[in-house]
Amino acid sequence: MVVERRIFVFASLLVVFFVSAVLWKASVRPIPRSSAAAPPPAPPPAESGAAPTVIGRDSASLRGTTAGGAVPAATTPVVRPPEAGGPSYIVLLARSEIRRRIRASGGITYLNEIVAASSDSVLHRWDSRVATPVRVAFASASVANFQPSFLDAVRAAFQRWQEAGVRVRFNMDADSTAAEVWVRWRIQFEGERSGQTDLQWDDEGHLLTGTITLATFDAKGQPLGADEIRVMALHEVGHLIGLDHSPNEGDIMYARPQVRDLSTRDISTALLLYDLAPGTLRVGN
Ligand SMILES: [Zn+2]
Repeated sequence: MVVERRIFVFASLLVVFFVSAVLWKASVRPIPRSSAAAPPPAPPPAESGAAPTVIGRDSASLRGTTAGGAVPAATTPVVRPPEAGGPSYIVLLARSEIRRRIRASGGITYLNEIVAASSDSVLHRWDSRVATPVRVAFASASVANFQPSFLDAVRAAFQRWQEAGVRVRFNMDADSTAAEVWVRWRIQFEGERSGQTDLQWDDEGHLLTGTITLATFDAKGQPLGADEIRVMALHEVGHLIGLDHSPNEGDIMYARPQVRDLSTRDISTALLLYDLAPGTLRVGN
């Protein structure tokens, strides 16, 4: 009887513990953090309050950020205890495990560098979008030098990432009224870039919507061809699935792509990203 009572008490404590853990996890909200070494913060969301984060990614916007280094080790955390509103021990343990896996992938992937260069240490990706593909729509193109073959080039770029085994699928024949991702065209960007990707995500790092904008002329005013569009689209779709820039010029996610196809590191980085839980990796709250 005493043993049964002890088991009952123990089971009750377990239930209380897990309910608390779930509640704490639900209460975790990333808070923007700034430091002198961090890149400029993302532009503010279009809406106020609890609106999803909006950020533009392109070859120009992240230029100048330091991309080296490793994921900051969990040696000097400033952790608020759960009773003070900080994350639970289980949540911190999960983050620690993800950071360990990212560090262990050094050399094989550049996820380490992406996290180190990010201002918020948040992994962003589409979640559970194999069975229900992300709906992609193409805006009607009436800009100069647009060619129908550009659409095939962009489709090929989406297809390339899918065929690499990344656990996200795209429906490129989606009804435009239900689109989550738009592909748009413009004649030219200011500055050096030829493409831009804008993303929105929720507090947990789940990507919600995206817009890829591609130029039909390069920075020097030269008209772009279909294969150049395909290479640009490979890079921008990399952003769309949640990748940021690689410091290695052998990768398509190098800020100014020098290669014309995905590298092994590009693929390994995306595969690892989609093997991890999205969300913040901070050791504090
Ligand atoms: Zn880029």
